[in-house]
Amino acid sequence: MKIVLATRNPHKVQEITAILGDAGVEWVPYSSLPNAPPLREEGISLQENAAAKAETGAAFTGLITLAEDSALEVDALGGAPGVRSARLLGEGATDHDRIQEILKQLRTYPWHGRTARFRCVVAVAQPGGRTEFAEGVCEGHITWEPKGTAGFGYDPIFFVPEYHRTLAEIGPTLKNRISHRAKALEACREILTRLRDEERS
Ligand code: IMP
Repeated sequence: MKIVLATRNPHKVQEITAILGDAGVEWVPYSSLPNAPPLREEGISLQENAAAKAETGAAFTGLITLAEDSALEVDALGGAPGVRSARLLGEGATDHDRIQEILKQLRTYPWHGRTARFRCVVAVAQPGGRTEFAEGVCEGHITWEPKGTAGFGYDPIFFVPEYHRTLAEIGPTLKNRISHRAKALEACREILTRLRDEERS
């Protein structure tokens, strides 16, 4: 079954294809589609953004399309940066800048006040049909300083208590088993299996 992967983030492409590598899917990367429309993230929720990206891909290609939107939610910051995680500090900011900003905002908080989670919403859109959703959450703490070099985004400051390491220290194999993205995509397998069976019949 061919599925368009509506993201331009190479880290997400890598993780999603690794996590669902055994799902019998032939992935069509968005970057391989000439003149494909932009994938906008202008909604006020992860679900809205994931749906907008998946539906854009499905309408453009006529193929089933998967997209996801994810966020870091820090309890001490009232759930921020949340849906604005990628846009924290605006356009030209880097992952390093955003990490430093979170650390700065949390500098007076003790360990027990540094709880946070990653949330991921996956949307699967059928061309001219409905869009279905799956969600995954990974709970952790924000560290005092960045640690580790693997992964991307906020991984170096996201400590996973079960493994006593940050997501950037545990590496891709384990991250792809325990992450918010892994959990959302596992929950999405059922949707993909059903769509494949429908395509066959
Ligand atoms: P978006 O889903 O592309 O809007 O990304 C949201 C923001 O959260 C970006 O700044 C990403 O770097 C960050 N982010 C999303 N998923 C992860 C992850 O698995 N690890 C670390 N940061 C992430």
